[in-house]
Amino acid sequence: MITIKSKREIELLRIAGNIVYQTHQYLKPYIKEGITTKELDKLAEAFIRSKDSTPSFKGYEGFPTALCISVNSEVVHGFPSDRVLKNGDIVSIDIGACYKGYHGDSAWTYAVGEINEEKKFLLEHTEKSLFVGLEQVKPGNRIGDIGYAIEQYAKEHHLGVVRELCGHGVGTSVHEDPEVPNYGRKNTGPRLKEGMVIAVEPMLTLGSPRIFIHDNNWTVDTEDGRPSAHFEHTIVVTNDGYQILTGE
Ligand code: MG
Ligand code: MG
Repeated sequence: MITIKSKREIELLRIAGNIVYQTHQYLKPYIKEGITTKELDKLAEAFIRSKDSTPSFKGYEGFPTALCISVNSEVVHGFPSDRVLKNGDIVSIDIGACYKGYHGDSAWTYAVGEINEEKKFLLEHTEKSLFVGLEQVKPGNRIGDIGYAIEQYAKEHHLGVVRELCGHGVGTSVHEDPEVPNYGRKNTGPRLKEGMVIAVEPMLTLGSPRIFIHDNNWTVDTEDGRPSAHFEHTIVVTNDGYQILTGE
């Protein structure tokens, strides 16, 4: 069931979203060669808890940590570990925070030091594909319009679209209806209405979009080992478009 959020709920979702945004900003200066992904997770968890909120992902269906941190070919759901970030890596950091029962969810892929041209291309165009998808968000448009726009943009830039994972509704649960695929057909799927809150989150690859899952049963990785990127915002549908909740 797709819920329409009340004004009060949207205010709580805005606070949760802003905590997620602040956590990204707080982490940024630490995303450098030499830090472990576990250290980033610890810093973020302490920060989230200092804001009267809890990490949405820790314990979610058994997920062990506050953040999902996915390096290079890892697409999503990487486990923070003793892995040390190196110059030239790209690292996708997915953050969820819950404030008074309401969630925010946003992922960003960061460069560690100097990255090569093809990784720069991947980051630039995966981020752009998020906003190309968001341009479709307004009352009357449909979920398929978002996926269609993202998929077309990815195709134009010869990037692969991971199809096994989708965006989603956000509210008192971090994952609610509807599913928001990063592919689709125009004018199909549920209609967008003012007060819906959804996370849009393209996951694009430099090579084939085919994936496999690590033995930990969570971490999604590209089959060909080529890099992938992930950009996500939680937004609310307004009367004439959308507002980002996980931004400033
Ligand atoms: Mg996320
Ligand atoms: Mg999400």
